Amino acid sequence: MSAPLIDPFQRPISYLRVSVTDRCDFRCVYCMSENMTFLPKKELLTLEELDQMCTTFIDMGVEKLRITGGEPLVRRGIMGFFNSMTRHLDSGTLKELTLTTNGSQLARFADDLYAAGVRRVNVSLDTLDEQKFADITRWGRLQQVLKGIDAAQNAGLRVKLNVVALKGFNEDELFTLVEWCNTRDIDLTFIEVMPMGDIGNEDRLDQYWPLKDLRAKLAEQYTLLDLAERTGGPARYVQLTETGQKIGFITPLTHNFCESCNRVRLTCTGELYMCLGQEDMADLRAPLRNNPDDTTALQEAIRGAILRKPKGHDFDYSRQDVAGRMTRHMSHTGG
Ligand code: SAM
Ligand code: SF4
Repeated sequence: MSAPLIDPFQRPISYLRVSVTDRCDFRCVYCMSENMTFLPKKELLTLEELDQMCTTFIDMGVEKLRITGGEPLVRRGIMGFFNSMTRHLDSGTLKELTLTTNGSQLARFADDLYAAGVRRVNVSLDTLDEQKFADITRWGRLQQVLKGIDAAQNAGLRVKLNVVALKGFNEDELFTLVEWCNTRDIDLTFIEVMPMGDIGNEDRLDQYWPLKDLRAKLAEQYTLLDLAERTGGPARYVQLTETGQKIGFITPLTHNFCESCNRVRLTCTGELYMCLGQEDMADLRAPLRNNPDDTTALQEAIRGAILRKPKGHDFDYSRQDVAGRMTRHMSHTGG
């Protein structure tokens, strides 16, 4: 194993999020436009290249992998990739293999994921209302996702729901969602909408429901106890005293979480983004493709990139305009 990855601000990089495809079977309004142009296949890392990339990062100290996209479970052959990562879990070098999914394919893959060593999944679901679900995802069907969640729980996977807080859309479902998760023993995290990519006619400021407002609403019915727990990421947690439930808040726009950031993101084309909210990236595909049998150049490129990891991001909604807006889509970098 080579020396661990430490960035210029002394943050150890132990968490890699990997987008395995930019494609998706949904078209969520805050994430994609209806007519998305996807990348040609040759631009994508092959499954073998994804394995080599992840293995190299694991050799350099990455202990947690989160597979995302686009929709990771629509990538053809993706279970082969999960199965190939099992060897790192078995050897103990990788501590956790997990994924973020829209849940549409979970009924098919839940058992296989568990068998590969996955123990937790994040499922993105913003509403429990069938019509609203169809509206927000444009192409999705709620029942399919609910079946997927059932399958995941039956397979033994711990499920966390990721809910994007959207003004005028799911404000009225706050308590329904909290109670639904409590009844089913599902963890729950709310996410503030972020200015990622061109999404057509939707207006970000119209969608923005600050989590401090959501939190205040939650406090009308529950006693919130702040928890000290940190995962090195943007989530902060509270416990609802009445039910014991833990609720997460991801507030990149109202709370600066960068000081404890332990993660980097690899796109499906092999670009490494050192910060979700900055444009700087490093191309890792070229050093890998030019030297498929020797990862020395790849390792050098990774080290060079980590040395450029910025202190933080610049998202800011406070001036009635969306500052720090990113031109790339979340589905490109991986949410
Ligand atoms: N397709 C999978 C899914 O939906 O879970 C994985 C990829 S998706 C890009 C990852 C997460 O990013 C989802 O929870 C989604 O709700 C969130 N997301 C997408 N666009 C976003 C945005 N503009 N602001 C905040 N969250 C966003
Ligand atoms: Fe697809 Fe996930 Fe983006 Fe929705 S949020 S369009 S499910 S990638």
